[in-house]
Amino acid sequence: MSDTVQSAPVEARTSMDPGAPMPGVATGVVYLDGRYVPRDEARVSVDDRGFLFGDGAYEVTRAIRGRLFEGARHARRLARTLRGLDIALPDDQIAALDAVALRLLRENGLEDGEAAVYLQVTRGTAVPRTHHFPPAGTHPTVYAAATRFVPPSALRERGASVVTVADVRWARCDLKTVNLLPNAMAKQRAVAAGADEALFVRDGMLMEGSHSNAFAVLDGVLRTAPATNYILAGITRDVVLELAREAGIPVLEYPLLAAEVPLASELFMTSTTSDVLPVVRVDGRPVGDGAPGPVARRLYEMLAARMYAS
Ligand code: PMP
Repeated sequence: MSDTVQSAPVEARTSMDPGAPMPGVATGVVYLDGRYVPRDEARVSVDDRGFLFGDGAYEVTRAIRGRLFEGARHARRLARTLRGLDIALPDDQIAALDAVALRLLRENGLEDGEAAVYLQVTRGTAVPRTHHFPPAGTHPTVYAAATRFVPPSALRERGASVVTVADVRWARCDLKTVNLLPNAMAKQRAVAAGADEALFVRDGMLMEGSHSNAFAVLDGVLRTAPATNYILAGITRDVVLELAREAGIPVLEYPLLAAEVPLASELFMTSTTSDVLPVVRVDGRPVGDGAPGPVARRLYEMLAARMYAS
């Protein structure tokens, strides 16, 4: 479920984390700065600010039968992140990225089933290394890749376990930047504990996962953290909120408190690569009756109906 969909495995990804190391060779064609090149020939400079500073934006979009799911929303979020970071990629170049994604799906033989498209834009390559931005006119580095994706259906049936971690991130979590060290460390804590995802807790409130948004059901009300600067407003989160309203489920955009977890009947995570994923254990304790719940199931079914509508 991570956003780092970075290899092009032939094998199916079944875990919550499509960025989990996969056996197999890096194959396929990727896009780098205007060219389509074999993945193992793609090279980024050591002076790239993405490499040196984590100075860049990214997106992960789901592709189903050669079409991008909610492509326009992902493009808008990318444009927003780039504006927030002051990275100047012209709007027409942002708009052209859709065509890049579709060509990658085609060239990699991914038009038949499901795929994930990873897109990254850094502030570009500049010498000497300085903290301040390079001169205007420095070209952003644009990288994109498409990989086979298999939805985590077994995990959804079983339900995920999560561990809570202190949210030590900065105050611009609304920007989808490649500066993912706190997220990577949190997810590693989960993996080390034998869990599937880490849940960031800030001031006693459940904010979001390391690469997912968090929802809870308490007294029949669907709760999720509001889209402030302290979470990434997930595209799946937005869609699920729309679906919940459509289904007449009462919604409150207010985070579940850590102290309320024992009272919640359901907890679930959402993301591009995990859809609606029920959580059945938090820090080893069962959520509700310890099994995936009806609200998560219903919302997943509604989401799937939208995703797989031909
Ligand atoms: N929060 C964080 C921190 C994330 O990395 C992600 C995945 N990009 C999400 C939420 C879910 O966003 P989306 O539904 O757009 O994949």
